[in-house]
Amino acid sequence: MKKYFIITYGCQMNEADSERIAASLEKKGYKLASEIESADLIVVNMCSIRQTAVDRIWGKTKELAKLKIKKPKIKTVLTGCIVKSDKNKFTKCFDEIWQNKDYLETFPKCREKTVGFVPISNGCNNFCTYCVVPYARGSLTCRNSKKIINETKLLIKNGAKEIWLLGQNVNDYICPKNPKIKFPELLKIVGDLPGDFQIRLMSPNPKNFTDKLIEIMASSKKIARFLNLPVQSGDNEILKRMNRPYTIEQYKNLVRKIKEKIPDINLTTDVIVGFPGETKKQFQNTIKLFKEIKFNLVYVSKYSKRSGTAAFLKKDNVSLEEKKRRWQILNKLVNEKEKQ
Ligand code: SF4
Repeated sequence: MKKYFIITYGCQMNEADSERIAASLEKKGYKLASEIESADLIVVNMCSIRQTAVDRIWGKTKELAKLKIKKPKIKTVLTGCIVKSDKNKFTKCFDEIWQNKDYLETFPKCREKTVGFVPISNGCNNFCTYCVVPYARGSLTCRNSKKIINETKLLIKNGAKEIWLLGQNVNDYICPKNPKIKFPELLKIVGDLPGDFQIRLMSPNPKNFTDKLIEIMASSKKIARFLNLPVQSGDNEILKRMNRPYTIEQYKNLVRKIKEKIPDINLTTDVIVGFPGETKKQFQNTIKLFKEIKFNLVYVSKYSKRSGTAAFLKKDNVSLEEKKRRWQILNKLVNEKEKQ
């Protein structure tokens, strides 16, 4: 019996994809290898969100090349978030390149029985200027809500205690078969399913985070009191250049409404420092935001230019030293606030 081994990088979306690849390979008669050396097929599920993530794959190709010398028949596959410019280079290092959307409808082989990853959509149409996702995963495709519900029911029946509804942008969800079912309606249906389980959602966008969605989150005990609401910058001019369609005033107002309706919410966010052209004054606006809003956790990342994105054409004029300085200042500030 042939054996497979999957290496997964990146977010829950890639974790979910790897579980589906595993299930589809086992349907074809493959068995999970306990270690990479005993595999006949190695799948690398890559992330492209930052250059460092791509560099990691280059490192992996060297390791796989050595393995291939020992086991020439071994087959290597690359999948996941791959941007065109990297794909052309990687084709020489892997036997095949697979598209992640091809196994979206495969029922997963869960790595942990108690955790069910349920992608509700794939891809994104928002084109934030720093982000590769629309180029790596393509345009937004939403799954049929009936299939999402049936899959969730089966995962709960199989023992899932935590259901993660996943999408690059969950609140852009619209059921292709029944457009009346948008994300709030889908969340309500999942929340009304019988069983003892919690629902997590990853990732929403402040853009169309409606009052109805807040209402439904507040009214269901099943929806976990965790929310990651990426803000990305505290400066309106930078948000505009990031093509993030909200202002800081709108973001603060949204956080106020969420905290009013769900006072025990555990709120986290993502922020990028050193975006092209970000002045010290604009960075001060980000600091000001984090002094005003108490987040439970903040994922601070230094801007990493990504080929193919609109921001790639902008002059990356904030030096690495200055990016590091801003990264340290923000981390120190949010860590101190977290302790309060
Ligand atoms: S909404 Fe998220 S996934 Fe989509 S382009 Fe923006 S950052 Fe990327």
